[in-house]
Amino acid sequence: MSTAVYKNLIGGQWVTARSGKTFLNLNPARYEDTVGEFPTSNAEDVADAVAAAKAAYATWRLTPAPKRAEILYRTGEILTQRKEQYARDMTREMGKVLSETRGDVQEAIDTAYYMAGEGRRLFGQTTPSELPNKFAMSVRMPVGVCGMIAPWNFPMAIPSWKLFPALVCGNTCLIKPAEDTPLSTYNLVQTLMDAGLPPGVVNIVAGFGPEAGAPIVTHPDVRAISFTGSSEVGRIVGQAAAANFKPCSLEMGGKNAMIVMEDANLDLALDGAVWGAFGTTGQRCTATSRIILHKKIAAEFTERLVARARALRVGDGLDEQFEMGPQINQQQIDTSTHYVEIATREGARLLCGGERLIEGAHAKGTFFAPTVFSGVTPSMRIAQEEVFGPVVSLIECGSLEEAIGQANGIQYGLSTALYSRDVNRAFAAIRDLEAGITYINAPTIGAEVHLPFGGVKQTGNGHREGGTGAIDFYSSWKSVYVDYSDKLQRAQID
Ligand code: NAD
Repeated sequence: MSTAVYKNLIGGQWVTARSGKTFLNLNPARYEDTVGEFPTSNAEDVADAVAAAKAAYATWRLTPAPKRAEILYRTGEILTQRKEQYARDMTREMGKVLSETRGDVQEAIDTAYYMAGEGRRLFGQTTPSELPNKFAMSVRMPVGVCGMIAPWNFPMAIPSWKLFPALVCGNTCLIKPAEDTPLSTYNLVQTLMDAGLPPGVVNIVAGFGPEAGAPIVTHPDVRAISFTGSSEVGRIVGQAAAANFKPCSLEMGGKNAMIVMEDANLDLALDGAVWGAFGTTGQRCTATSRIILHKKIAAEFTERLVARARALRVGDGLDEQFEMGPQINQQQIDTSTHYVEIATREGARLLCGGERLIEGAHAKGTFFAPTVFSGVTPSMRIAQEEVFGPVVSLIECGSLEEAIGQANGIQYGLSTALYSRDVNRAFAAIRDLEAGITYINAPTIGAEVHLPFGGVKQTGNGHREGGTGAIDFYSSWKSVYVDYSDKLQRAQID
């Protein structure tokens, strides 16, 4: 079968990269399966895409928001029809199992409907003026051309979190998908076009970070940047944006803790731990990578978790008998392997997994065994640093207070969870856990699109995706004063 060839989308036209170079998108479950060939773009392609987005902005910003929203609503309808096909495409390029890629497409559908509703809201404020015969209000204005840089782990959901609020606010966009998962962004943007999005309003520039991502951040006509990815790259992006005072939303790494107290429903906590730690092969920014166990239940919980981890069926996500897919690429396998070595050297006990799976069909992809470490202490690197693989660390505590201190004792602050039946403990945890998200009696993963999503400390720089937080990022406030007194009135003076 010949390899499907994809081009950049610039001003509504599919065009090859100026360099003429391409790269291959491979199936991480079966390397012999090439998903597609994509353009390797550089600063010249970015400049073309920015020019197209700038030209389209002239009319898109004046299109009434409810009309812009109708396109998003139709996008939601068409995505619903194509959900199964797009989920299969995503499993092929990203690896996570079909039930999860269906969820990823569903997240884009939910975001489409939510942001379509925003087209008839985009609320501002009216407020009294301090002066007579004067009217005061604030309205939302679009920002202009927005540049977006996406990671590979939620290949359709994350681009939809960025594109849909930006579009309903009247901005035009260029997006660089992650090099491992460009097809899902293509599917998303193709759907927007089929729903009636005018040419140039969204442009795609595929390629690698330093060549195709960095020029988006520094281009003078790009007015805002939205980045999701590692804290390491986020720091580079944030500093480059700051040099030109560009609004820049950074959504980055996590080292998320689940606390299980002695009064918890252990069956429920176990289900949550397995899903939180090994769902998406641990490759979620919100993955449960530390489980802080009260010492009274630690032994029982540990034994049962290890049994569940060992029993997980790992394989090609397109085959629905499997519960966990591959890691995205060799680099992620190397990272997981590296952290297993570090944890072992630091004195943590490897209870299961800890290695790449290489027997039979596993040899054709990048599979890693579900891995559990016990005897982890809060200062170990395995308890501090993001692995982004199916590796979970068990830490013991003697009280909720101690557990919260351990949960907070890291540089990240994305998601947290507490399992307890005690309402007083629940509210103390909600108050004291330093994180953008806290779940009670549910794992650290499972965000819904109409609530703010993001974290504190080194996870983010204060912005939020999802809900109205996204509308705040993609619009800029204009305060409007209408003086109908027919004379000069001076605020603070008259
Ligand atoms: P990454 O930082 O390696 O890459 C993210 C994107 O940045 C890619 O598109 C990449 O091409 C681009 N990039 C790389 N170098 C660049 C540069 N110099 N300039 C501009 N762009 C550049 O991250 P990844 O491996 O794709 O994703 C995994 C990371 O993303 C994890 O740390 C995870 O926690 C994080 N993540 C965070 C969230 C969140 O919302 N907080 C969500 C998903 C993933």
